[in-house]
Amino acid sequence: MNAEREKINSFEVAKKQIDIAAKYLNVDPGLLEKLKHTKRELIVHFPVKMDDGTVKVFTGYRVQHDVSRGPAKGGIRYHPDVDLDEVRALAMWMTWKSAVVNIPFGGAKGGVQCNPKEMSLHEIEHMTRRFTWEISMMLGPEQDIPAPDVYTNPQVMAWIMDTFSILKGYSVPGVVTGKPIELGGSLGRFEATGRGVVITSLEALKYLKKPIEGAKVAVQGCGNVGGVTAKHFDRLGAKVIAISDSKGGLYNEKGLDLERVLDCKARYACFVCEKKEETEISNEELLELDCDILIPAALENQITEKNAPRIRAKIIAEGANGPTTTEADEILNDKGIFVVPDILANAGGVTVSYFEWVQNLQELLWSEEEVLDRLTRIMQRSYKEVLEISLSKKIPMRTAALVLGIGRVAEATRLRGIYP
Ligand code: NAD
Repeated sequence: MNAEREKINSFEVAKKQIDIAAKYLNVDPGLLEKLKHTKRELIVHFPVKMDDGTVKVFTGYRVQHDVSRGPAKGGIRYHPDVDLDEVRALAMWMTWKSAVVNIPFGGAKGGVQCNPKEMSLHEIEHMTRRFTWEISMMLGPEQDIPAPDVYTNPQVMAWIMDTFSILKGYSVPGVVTGKPIELGGSLGRFEATGRGVVITSLEALKYLKKPIEGAKVAVQGCGNVGGVTAKHFDRLGAKVIAISDSKGGLYNEKGLDLERVLDCKARYACFVCEKKEETEISNEELLELDCDILIPAALENQITEKNAPRIRAKIIAEGANGPTTTEADEILNDKGIFVVPDILANAGGVTVSYFEWVQNLQELLWSEEEVLDRLTRIMQRSYKEVLEISLSKKIPMRTAALVLGIGRVAEATRLRGIYP
């Protein structure tokens, strides 16, 4: 899978998506060209002292795609495959996503090329603090607000917030979201992306007149997004038949004992087959399972023109960013598979990040109930808006979401005008 991933440039995929949506938008071609470019890109190479006393040089990126609707917003990823084009694509998708759920943020993303699985906690902390210092001129609650992404978490956000606050001389909780609750994080943020995936999947089931009870769900990835999504589906009476991590996963056509499976993964950092009905499954096999709902919740470019003809899910709700290429999209559409696209399905994360930022700026603390209630309303409203565009223009849900998101960003840019 990684070999295949390397061949696909996510930024080219993201730009192709603009061309597809442009057919249904009345936007000046010059403006569209602007939106195909990122606003600001910073590449940094920086040294970190490792535990054995040696010095290692890391490469990191922070890219702001667009800030016409508000401060730049987007996660920070630690992964060996991080590169500039991947970060550019993820930043662009953040812009559309914030616009689809209509929150006043632009889009950004960042990352460090590293393998955190081979680093100690101290090394990750030192790398995080130095990276924060290197990109600090771009950050700030009014400028650019990072959040967790693949292989980063609330602890990493705490280090970023602490380093940025030391540079400023006072505490700046609003510089990151997804922080620990003790440092001004929002109740409900950790679960927000997964909950959003489930809320939009429930809307899709309702639209297709299918029940949640007994619905067969396969989840690729079991980190923040995949793990939370799987747990919520399980609680709602769906059958999670498969779940995986980077090394592969487990499958039980009658439904996994999810609590045991996730507990085992948390304890031993891997899945262990304990029941005779369970079998090991590769990530490629998982994507092709006969199921009602498939949740890609790992990395980009997992569903391509090569495996799309073999996908048997009725609904795909994209927890991950960019899991499907444009060529695969056409095949899925022809097969009648209902896709809830990433910029809608996983927008629960940025929505509650917005709530966290608002709480930090206002020095307020909302209850979990209030956060979940507001999240549910925004996700349901956004789903409805995208579905209406999809039905009225007779276009797939992804194109409809792009039309909504790009349209809002283009209009904001037009209204602001081009300086001078
Ligand atoms: P995470 O680090 O918590 O989990 C990542 C998961 O993916 C892990 O289970 C890991 O084992 C698995 N994985 C890694 N490489 C894989 C591979 N090659 N094949 C299969 N599985 C693999 O990250 P996350 O925050 O859950 O992010 C997952 C996806 O969701 C990413 O695309 C991210 O951009 C997107 N996303 C995250 C958030 C958020 O709030 N965290 C919000 C929106 C979108």
